[in-house]
Amino acid sequence: MPAKKPASKKPRNQYDCLKCPGYCCSYPVIEVKDRDAQRIAKHFGLTLAQAEKKYFKAAHGYKRIMRRQTDEHFGKICQFFDTALRRCTIYPARPSTCRSFPGTRCGYYDFLKFERAGQEDEDYISTTWHHGN
Ligand code: SF4
Ligand code: SF4
Repeated sequence: MPAKKPASKKPRNQYDCLKCPGYCCSYPVIEVKDRDAQRIAKHFGLTLAQAEKKYFKAAHGYKRIMRRQTDEHFGKICQFFDTALRRCTIYPARPSTCRSFPGTRCGYYDFLKFERAGQEDEDYISTTWHHGN
């Protein structure tokens, strides 16, 4: 009897956030809905009012978006991003916007792979890509 075919090793997603400098976290507008704000406040043991003041602001026509910090690669990035390790520091409590992004394929990651192949540099970071929609 033939050996059973091994399960496919192909990753479900077509991108690898661990090899990415965190482009999506540099978007100027990361919306934080009411439930997200409550979850983040709880994560830090703060009241909603305290969290509102410390972490969020009203801007770009939104009631509540993330405050940002300076970043060497993208100029600015979400305040909850670890700029040295290039990862989210509140992953279990992150907003729904971050949870649902980007689906099965990430446009930035596709672009990054292409650029890295062109530059023959696995660590190359492009800051010039603009998502097209
Ligand atoms: S830009 Fe894409 S690959 Fe990079 S961290 Fe965000 S979702 Fe992951
Ligand atoms: S909360 Fe986390 S995943 Fe969302 S933008 Fe900020 S650092 Fe990125």
